[in-house]
Amino acid sequence: MRAQFPEFRLGNVLATSFTATLTERHGDAVERIPTPQRLMEWLAVNGLPVQFCTISQLERARNLRESIHTVATAAAIQDALPASAVQVINGCSAQGRAAAHLTPEGKRQWRLGAASCVEDALSVIAADAISIIAGERDGKLALCASPTCQAAFFDTSQSRTRKWCDMNTCGNRQKKARFRANRGKNYRSAG
Ligand SMILES: [Zn+2]
Repeated sequence: MRAQFPEFRLGNVLATSFTATLTERHGDAVERIPTPQRLMEWLAVNGLPVQFCTISQLERARNLRESIHTVATAAAIQDALPASAVQVINGCSAQGRAAAHLTPEGKRQWRLGAASCVEDALSVIAADAISIIAGERDGKLALCASPTCQAAFFDTSQSRTRKWCDMNTCGNRQKKARFRANRGKNYRSAG
């Protein structure tokens, strides 16, 4: 029987969807790409299908993921960018041979190298991270207000006042926590 893995949290921004493959970093962390196969599935869902993935490629991917998380977090709080994490992002960006391809319908597709290497896919993700960290895209990096999450996310709301990386999970969790806290207060005042 097939093992059940945690489902993916997919957003509109490739780099932060990728960092969201590890959630609740400051709580009970959930690893959403626990196996090479699961990374391949995530890449396929995100338009970067690869034909194989080794354990060391999975490790490289997770290293890139945590480097993006570290650098994006520093950028969100306007801190100096950690040099070693920047180096990992640049290294992954330089290693790929992905080419942007325009379809007849006017959509962009990524064409990876002949062997459809994980490295090519990671270079696309690294370049995406560079573009949001460098402030080249319309939006602002921010940190999720959930204390157990604190994920760096890309806020494209008009007012740039989004508080949570994902309203359906972190936002709801915060609301429930507040509700429980308020209910606790009511009990105390009643007794
Ligand atoms: Zn969050």
